Parts: sequence; structure tokens; C-alpha cells
Amino acid sequence: MGELKNRYDVLVIGGGIAGMQASLDLGEQGYKVLLVEKDPSIGGIMVGLNKVFPTLDCSSCICTPRMAETAHHRNITIQSYTEIEKVEKKGRGFSVKLLEKPRYVVLEDCIGCSLCEYECPVDVPHEYDYDLGARRAIYIPHANAIPQVAVLDVEHCTFCGKCVKVCPTDCIDYTQEARHLDLEVGAVVVASGTTITPMGAKKEYGGDKLANVMNPLAMERVQSSNGPYGHILRPSDGKVPKSIAYVQCAGSRDKTLGISYCSRVCCMYALKQAILTKAYGDVDITIYHMDIRAFGKGFEQFYRRAMNDGINIVKAKVAKITEDEEKNPIVRIEMIDDDGRVEEVKHDLVILSQGLVPKWHPDGQLPAEEDTDGFFRIPDSKIHPTVSTTDGIFIAGVAAGPKDIPDAIIEAGSAAMEAAIYLESGKGAPVAV
Ligand SMILES: Cc1cc2nc3c(=O)[nH]c(=O)nc-3n(C[C@H](O)[C@H](O)[C@H](O)COP(=O)(O)OP(=O)(O)OC[C@H]3O[C@@H](n4cnc5c(N)ncnc54)[C@H](O)[C@@H]3O)c2cc1C
Repeated sequence: MGELKNRYDVLVIGGGIAGMQASLDLGEQGYKVLLVEKDPSIGGIMVGLNKVFPTLDCSSCICTPRMAETAHHRNITIQSYTEIEKVEKKGRGFSVKLLEKPRYVVLEDCIGCSLCEYECPVDVPHEYDYDLGARRAIYIPHANAIPQVAVLDVEHCTFCGKCVKVCPTDCIDYTQEARHLDLEVGAVVVASGTTITPMGAKKEYGGDKLANVMNPLAMERVQSSNGPYGHILRPSDGKVPKSIAYVQCAGSRDKTLGISYCSRVCCMYALKQAILTKAYGDVDITIYHMDIRAFGKGFEQFYRRAMNDGINIVKAKVAKITEDEEKNPIVRIEMIDDDGRVEEVKHDLVILSQGLVPKWHPDGQLPAEEDTDGFFRIPDSKIHPTVSTTDGIFIAGVAAGPKDIPDAIIEAGSAAMEAAIYLESGKGAPVAV
């Protein structure tokens, strides 16, 4: 993964698919890249997805080779579990302050054997599975994590010492502290990506309260063969759902949430999940929508396939979701094309098609402006779609606005090329030390 130095050509912020691609494109051109990821593993959202639309390829089968390539590249150093404290313009480059969070495990010594997690007596809801599964207080983030190194969650650890006793390399260190790192770079690529609208944002949908109203990323994990259940079950009682509903635009195109834009991927991921679940067998699936936006290559055909597969695509606005005494969600809909008829429909499980919102708002940590939606501002988006408001800072992936994986990869290539041109023009160089 490379030893940390104090000068790099480019700092890449975020180890999702866009950040990895930008790092690889720059690394291949001979630039020295430092890839900083705030989580314990790189991979971003993509590594946790089940399959990808419209081809239905296995997501982690595409993502994990990219993760390994990034980790083994001679010109790329990964600095995981690390926060950006400050990036400032200095001379022709940028000075960078980082905060490496303590894993309480010596990264270089851990061999990823998992003996510590087998021995740990504490079960904690697993964030990777959106709290539907469990992990231990000391754990490797997930089976495909890079680095394959344990991290200790001090909030839940009882410091019983069982992990320390069993560790074959003596790499667990309860006294480890956060480390401040100072370095210099010539240019910056921001690929800090996205998260979904909070589940409780739309109170009338009860996303944060109703047991069988789920978020779409959790559904990706439920559909995954290595997910929390290994089958499609509903969270409240483990029942196999026979009737599933998707509520579109549950967190975008909604001025009341301050999110007036379309998130571009929700129609497609709902269709994808519906097609995959339908293939399991006897299940009724309904997608409530204002309109289906299937605008990309092969997307319209994918939409038609969903209809041919028997998925009900219903043009209706969802006013409210409640639940009955068996925790079955009751969806109150207002038909859009049918004189505004109002109906209440009972389902076993509802998935809210949440929108994409920016994951990181720098708040003075980075000198690049945001636009009114909170994504990074691209002043000349038609001609230079990855150039930020600050010379030498380039934006890739969902950090610049909602998009799917292929578009995030294309943008990453563009940002890497813009950064290379910037460095070659002599405008950007790491500050002399
Ligand atoms: C439910 C769902 C299903 C989807 N299905 C598909 C699909 O089938 N096909 C498809 O093409 N697209 C799909 N998408 C969209 C896809 O997830 C995105 O296009 C893709 O993840 C964008 O990659 P990214 O690298 O820009 O961002 P992300 O995947 O969000 O990665 C950003 C990375 O940056 C890190 N980071 C953030 N802030 C910082 C910081 N300050 N410092 C350091 N690191 C930071 C994050 O931890 C993360 O690892 C889906 C999205 C959702 C929500």
C-alpha cells in the first residue's frame, strides 16, 4: 500500500470508484498519488452493491479488482481511515493536513487472519449491512475490504483482552492515538461521493420508524448472497415478502426537503432491484412513481424488461406510509392518471428510493466552492466538467452531482487528465520543503 511520504503530485480525496479510477489514471501516467479515504476500507458505495444496472453484472466482481489494482499500484499510496483536516493553496501547490484515526491495530503488522473477531464476545450492528447484520467490536470491515486489516471500535469494546491474547502478530494496541500528518501536493482531485437522503427526512413516509420500510442501500445488501440474511427477508420478522413496493422520488425532486434535483439513478436502481427480486419467484412488486427516467444506454430496454417481467409500474404519488399491527406497511397513494383516485395498499415491505446527496461538505477544510445543491461547483461545466472554482482542484464522480458508475468513471478520467495537464503546464507543483 506504500509508505507515506511528505510530497505527492496529486492528492485524491475519496476511495470510491471515481477516486480509484482517477488515482489509477494518474498513477499510470507516472504521477505519485496519495489516495485518502475516511473509512477503514476503500471501495465506496459500489463495493456494497449487489449487481449493477443495466447489465446486472456482479458489482463487487467489478469493483474489487479495481480496489486491488489501486492498492498494488507502484505510484499510488492509500491512506485509509484518515480525515482531511485542511487543504490550503501554498505557492504552486497545496499544503495538506491529515488526521489518521486510530485503528488500535498496527496496520503494517495485521495479517487479516480474523482470529481477533472470532474471539471477540461483543456483537454490534454492522454498518456495512445497514445494521441488519452484526459484526464484532474488533472486525475487518467486510470480506472485500482493502486493506484487509482489523479495526477496533472503542465505543463498544470492553477491553477484555481476548483479541490481544489470540493475535498471532501482537498487532492490537489499545493505546494507539490519532496521528496528524503534514504533506504537500501539486494538485487535488476530490471524489468524496455521496450518501442517500436521511431515512427520516420525509416524516410522512416513516422511514426512520416503520420496521419494514427500508433504505435502498440496505436492500442491496439484503439481495447480496454475502448480505446479512443470504435471502430476501423483511427485517421485522424474517418473513419472505410476497408484496414489495418501491416509492420513487422519496428523497429527491422535492422542494420541501430542499432537494429539487433528480438523483438520476433511483429509477434505474429500483427497476434493477425489482427485476432481481422478481427472478426469485412468487412475489408481487409495484413501483410508485411520478415518471420513470430511463435515459442511458440500454436503460429504456431495461425498463421494458421490468414491465415484461410483470413488475407493476404505477403512476401515483405516495402521500403517507403507516403500518398495521403486524408491521405491514400501508401505502396511501394518489393516482396521477386516474382522476386523483386515493387508495390504501398493504405491502409486506417498502423500499424508499432515496436521492443522492453530497457526502462531504468541506466547511473551510478545502478551498473549493459548493453550488446551491451542496455538490462542488463547476463554473464551466459544459467545457470543463471536472474543473472546480479553485485552480488545481478537480472534481470527479458524485461529488460534482448525481450520476451512475460509468459516468463517475468517465469523469474520473477527465479529472485525472485535467490534473495532469495542470501539473505539466508548470502551474502546479508540490511546495518545496
Ligand atoms: C441504492 C443504490 C444503488 C445503486 N446502483 C447502481 C447501479 O446498479 N449502477 C450504477 O451505475 N450506479 C448505481 N448507483 C450509483 C453509484 O453508487 C454511484 O454512481 C457511485 O457510487 C459513485 O462513486 P463515487 O466514487 O463518486 O462515490 P462513492 O461511491 O460515494 O465514494 C466516495 C468515497 O469517498 C469517501 N469520502 C467521502 N468524504 C471523504 C473525505 N472527506 N475524506 C476522505 N474520503 C472521503 C467515502 O467514504 C467513499 O469511500 C447506486 C446508488 C444507490 C444509492
